[in-house]
Amino acid sequence: MSTPHDASTLAIRFNEPLPRRGKPLAEVVARVERDVIADSNKLYHPMYMGHQVSPPVPAAVWMEMVTAAVNNSTAVWEMSPTATVIEARVIRWLCELAGLPPESGGTLTTGGTEATFTALLAARGAALPDAWSDGISANPPVLVYGEQAHYAVTRAAGELGLGMKNAIAVPTRDYRMDVRALRETLDRLQREGRRVMAVVATAGSTPTGSFDDLAAIGALCAERGHWFHVDAAHGGSALFSATHAKRLAGVSRASSIAWDPHKMMLMPLQAGVLLVRDERAMLDGAFAQKAPYLFHDAGADERVWDQGTRSFLCSRRADALKLWVALQRHGADGFGALYDRLCETTRALYEELEKRPDFETLHEPESNILCFRYIGRDADDAFNLRLRERWNRSGDGWITTTLLGGKRVLRVTMMNPRTTREHVARLVEGLARMASER
Ligand SMILES: *Cc1c(COP(=O)(O)O)cnc(C)c1O
Repeated sequence: MSTPHDASTLAIRFNEPLPRRGKPLAEVVARVERDVIADSNKLYHPMYMGHQVSPPVPAAVWMEMVTAAVNNSTAVWEMSPTATVIEARVIRWLCELAGLPPESGGTLTTGGTEATFTALLAARGAALPDAWSDGISANPPVLVYGEQAHYAVTRAAGELGLGMKNAIAVPTRDYRMDVRALRETLDRLQREGRRVMAVVATAGSTPTGSFDDLAAIGALCAERGHWFHVDAAHGGSALFSATHAKRLAGVSRASSIAWDPHKMMLMPLQAGVLLVRDERAMLDGAFAQKAPYLFHDAGADERVWDQGTRSFLCSRRADALKLWVALQRHGADGFGALYDRLCETTRALYEELEKRPDFETLHEPESNILCFRYIGRDADDAFNLRLRERWNRSGDGWITTTLLGGKRVLRVTMMNPRTTREHVARLVEGLARMASER
């Protein structure tokens, strides 16, 4: 599933001077197969249950080649006549799925990190309209987020000049943001006369795939006039599923939403999305820049087609194309079924583990992520860490690990629709056998 070699061994393989002369294509291809692909992670293997990276949908993989060959850059419409309008169309579809109003809009991004950064930049523009020209003052507004949030959130606090001390974590309960604690935090900030730039909730958290209560948090933000950002990088694709969309109930209240098709829509990297409730927040708030050699001013009622006015990037891949092609090929319902299947396989693992005395689960899976521990034979943190390393080296499977509530846990993300109950049973039995060998 992965490589038996360590990083320095692999580095030696590629330790060579810059090739001065070209080689025959067949030779280069043979080397790619032997030296590159052979030791890459095999995400398409049904026993790979590691990180949140997809074994990509074939139609999207094929479209990658077309996108590269056509090579239209999507910062400005005149450089990408079809891709630009297709991007706008895909964004519109996703805004509608999320229940955002007609004045909503957004952009494709390189992923959830860029989407969240851009969302918070727009939030900064809303809170401090002069920040673009004057910089932020010595007393910046604060950013409030749940303690299980992805590091993209606190990273943005640093990048945006707020400073880490102005990023305030709210405790979680059962891995979800504790809404009472959020209310208390907001009350305290109000008493202290601090301004809140944004509240960030997570829909599909990285460690456990848990969903914050968006309806309650959204209501609280609406009541107090706070920017409400939803980091749905992982869980946004639940909106395709008739069964799981309810986990995002309340997302329609969001000021902005980060959503990664390169996670649960199984797009090849990279495909991220940022949706904003009012797209003027991006055109004027996030990126208040003029570039007369590139961007075109639009009339009052005219749409600005140039995506560069909404995006962190200048030269931009047409990542919307693979997403559009995959939606044409499989339809929204196809992606809903895919989402359901990955969750069902995770549920099967949960049920399998619950039956056994030698394992404990740390939570019920809300999506396709599950954290658990081996607890037979007085196994401790170090034992679980070693177990994971041995398992991954065995070639029988590949999983991850994290720290949860101070405990070392084994962590699985089901990203492969070809992973079945039999593979799940093989994982549990394999781990148990390996643990009993010691
Ligand atoms: C993966 C993830 C991110 C980061 O997204 P990238 O696409 O890796 O930049 C942010 N938030 C959550 C909840 C995630 O799961």
